[in-house]
Amino acid sequence: TPLPLKDPSLLKSQCYVNGEWVGTPVDPVINPATGQTIGHVPRFGAKEAAEAVEHADKAFRLWSKKTAKERSNLLRKWFDLMIANTDDLGLIMTAEQGKPLAEAKGEVAYAASFVEFFAEEARRVYGDIIPQHRPDHRILVHKQPIGVCAAITPWNFPAAMITRKCSPAIAVGCTMVVKPAPETPLTALALAELAHRAGIPAGVINIITGDAAPIGKTWCEHPTVRFVGFTGSTPVGKLLMAQAASTVKRVGLELGGNAPFIVFDDADIDAAVEGAMVSKYRNMGQTCVCANRIFVQESVHDAFVEKFTARVKALKVGNGVEPGIDQGPLIKPAAVDKVEAHVKDALSKGAKVETGGKRSELGHTFFEPTVLSGVTTDMLVTREETFGPLAPIYRFKTEEEAIQLANATQFGLASYFYGRDIGRIFRVAEALEYGMVGINTGLVGTDVAPFGGVKESGLGREGSHYGLDEFIEIKLMMLGGI
Ligand code: ADP
Repeated sequence: TPLPLKDPSLLKSQCYVNGEWVGTPVDPVINPATGQTIGHVPRFGAKEAAEAVEHADKAFRLWSKKTAKERSNLLRKWFDLMIANTDDLGLIMTAEQGKPLAEAKGEVAYAASFVEFFAEEARRVYGDIIPQHRPDHRILVHKQPIGVCAAITPWNFPAAMITRKCSPAIAVGCTMVVKPAPETPLTALALAELAHRAGIPAGVINIITGDAAPIGKTWCEHPTVRFVGFTGSTPVGKLLMAQAASTVKRVGLELGGNAPFIVFDDADIDAAVEGAMVSKYRNMGQTCVCANRIFVQESVHDAFVEKFTARVKALKVGNGVEPGIDQGPLIKPAAVDKVEAHVKDALSKGAKVETGGKRSELGHTFFEPTVLSGVTTDMLVTREETFGPLAPIYRFKTEEEAIQLANATQFGLASYFYGRDIGRIFRVAEALEYGMVGINTGLVGTDVAPFGGVKESGLGREGSHYGLDEFIEIKLMMLGGI
C-alpha cells in the first residue's frame, strides 16, 4: 500500500545531482515496523561520488559569488516549504525510520529550524580589521566559504542531521554532496525535492545513495572536497578522519555517546523523572544524546525508581503511524539483539528488572521499554551505548563518586544532572567532561545552541553561530606600503 501522502511526488526513487533526478532504483527501503518495502533507491559508488563533487565544484563558483541576501532568501524558501510539507515529510520519516508520527513531525520542525536560523545568520558573517603593527600596514581579516563540503549522515535523525550540516554550509556560500543512511534515504531525497522547488540552484545540494565505503573514501580523498561532516558511529568516524588526513581536510564529527544522567538528593524528583523519560525514550532510545547510564543518589533512589518505572510502564508500543503510540520499532533486528544482549549481561551480573526486559509480543523489531535497577559498573551497559529502550539505574553515595562514575568513559557528548543547590550545580557542570551538560533538563538540542562532543565523541560544533565556523576559512589580507 502506497503512503497516504498529500503530495506523492515527494516520494523519490532516484538521486539528486546537479538539479536532476538520476540513477536506477535497486536497493529497497524497509519499513521497520512492518518489514514491508516502501521504495527503492540507486546504488551509486565511487564514480558517481566523484561526479557529484565536480557538479558541486562548478556550482560553488557561482553560489559563493551570490550576495548573502540572495542565499538567505533561498534558504528561507526551503524552510517555508519544509514547514508547509510537515505532514508528508513526517509520514515518510515514520515509514522508513519508525519513530512515532508526532516525533517525526517534531523532527521536521527541528530540521527546518536550522534552515531558518542559518538563513538569518547568512547575512551576519562579518570580517575584522585589526589595528596594524606598523604605521604603513593595514590588517584585514576576510571570511570566505571553505568550498565543496561532504556530509555522511545517520538514520536516527533522517532530516535534522542533513539540514544541520547543509544549511550553515549553503548559507556562507559552500556547496554540498550528501550521502544519507541506507535505512533512511527517502526523507533526504524529499528534502532535496523541496530545495529544488525553493529555487536553490543546480549543484548546490547533491544527494546520492549507495555504497557507503567507496563513496566516503572518494569524498575524503578528493582534493576538491574541503570539509567532511559526519554523524554516526565512532569507528566509522575514526576511519573517515584517517582518510581525510590524505588531503588535510577539515572534519566535523558527531560520534557516539555514553550519556550519564545524575539525580542528586536535592533534585525535584518529578522533574528528574520527566527529564529522564525525554532523554532516554526519545526515538526509542536511539539517539547519541540519550541517557545511557542513570545514577541516582541513595536517599532518593527508591522514590525515583518507583516513579520512573510507573511512567515507563505506561508507554504505548506500536507502529508509529497509529495514534497514541509513544514507542515505535527499533531500526532493525540487529538493534533488538543488542538491547537483549545488554539486558542478559546485566541480569547475569545481578541487575533486577523493574519493567520490560524482553522482546515485545509485537515481535520483529519491537522491544519492551525496560528499566533495570541494581546496575553496576562491571556490566556491558556501563561501557557501551545501548541505543535502545533500556534504562539502567545505578545507586551512588557522594557527589565526587557521581562525577567520577560519569566521567569514566572515552565518550563525552551529552550529560545531564538534576539538583537545586547552586554551588553543586556549578561544581558538577564544570567537572563533567562533556560537550553538553543538561542541568534540570533532559533536552540539549536546539538550533540556537552549539551541539557537539569532546573526547572520542567528536570534533567541532553544529548549530548556533559556532556552527558556521566549520564552513569558513579565515583569510588575512596584509596591506603594506600605505
Ligand atoms: P550505524 O551503525 O548506526 O548505522 P554508521 O556509523 O555505520 O552507524 O552509519 C552512519 C553513516 O555512515 C551512514 O550513512 C552509513 O552508510 C555511513 N557509513 C558506514 N560505513 C561507512 C564507511 N566505511 N565509509 C563512509 N561512510 C560509512
